[in-house]
Amino acid sequence: MVKIGTNVLTQGGNQVIFEKMQDIVRQISMLQREGHEVLLVTSGAITEGLSLLDRFKKNQFSGESGSTASKQVLAAVGQVPLMRGWERAFSELDILSAQALITRRDVSDRLSYLHARNTLLKLLELGIVPIINENDVVAIDEIAEVNIGDNDHLSALISNLVDADLLVILSDVDGLYESDPRANKEAVLITEVESVDDYVLSIAGSAGDRGRGGMATKVSAAKIATESGADVLITNGNAENCVLSSVSNERSGTFFPAQSSKIESRRRYLLSNVVIKGHLTVDGGVEKALRRGSSILPVGVVGSDGDFQRGDVVDIQSVSGMRIGAGITNYSANELGQIKGMQSSEILSKLGYEYGEEIIHRNNMTLT
Ligand code: GLU
Repeated sequence: MVKIGTNVLTQGGNQVIFEKMQDIVRQISMLQREGHEVLLVTSGAITEGLSLLDRFKKNQFSGESGSTASKQVLAAVGQVPLMRGWERAFSELDILSAQALITRRDVSDRLSYLHARNTLLKLLELGIVPIINENDVVAIDEIAEVNIGDNDHLSALISNLVDADLLVILSDVDGLYESDPRANKEAVLITEVESVDDYVLSIAGSAGDRGRGGMATKVSAAKIATESGADVLITNGNAENCVLSSVSNERSGTFFPAQSSKIESRRRYLLSNVVIKGHLTVDGGVEKALRRGSSILPVGVVGSDGDFQRGDVVDIQSVSGMRIGAGITNYSANELGQIKGMQSSEILSKLGYEYGEEIIHRNNMTLT
């Protein structure tokens, strides 16, 4: 996953530079050819909005651009040309891209979490590059000056959502320095941070932090992403082949190794009793199929217990009552009561709607 901020996209100017987009997209296309699945988190909507309002002589408004409400208006205007640029750059290389506007609140809500995860994973499976930005129009604290509300933080949450292996945060400096490289020419670049502790957070706070989007937010984003199982690289987005080299031995910048495996972190989450809302029982054949990586279909479910909703975590049990695993259910207890034992093709006629053929998709499941 690649996160690119406004400063890199505009090269410090007041408009996004299309050639920069083309350069990033060229590198993403090469990564795709090597078999990597890539998502892009992009900023730049507010800046694009500001430059459009100026062009349309609505600058009476841009004077107030400091307030949250006006930033939301700017983002609404600017998201369109921002996406137009990305879409053009991707289609020049015959790559299909998609837009996903997501807020932090969406990631903490169980249903939106499930929907966003399923959609992004499906896009990746189809070879489509998801292009993500904050949904600034509805976001509350994302644009306001709160501690870590910004696309750096969002990219860490999305890394967790899609189980990313690597989050590359492109910066306008080379990485995390021991002191502010702008003030001190001798400042030393830290090439690897074993774990983000208070000391690291404190140097990030003083090392060239220019407020929101500065090094402090990048390092706290790195903390979140590494704890959920992704490696993180903060590197200079102006360096040649910055994205390509991030997956090679030639990577430069500050590397933060994952603090736990993704599978471990998802397992811990799914298997923690705090989140379990009920259980469902599957027949013996399904149990074997699950071990081979299958999803749970209604036909394999023999019963359920508990009052769970779509998006809740449920235990998966064998007929003898043994716990096999846990997963996020696509159907509520009530719906499951009506469709268990049926073929997936019958869900629609039974319920009048459907949320997919699986009760629990293998992507959203862990086995004990
Ligand atoms: N979502 C905002 C934009 O696209 C920027 C947020 C950030 O820079 O972190 O302009």
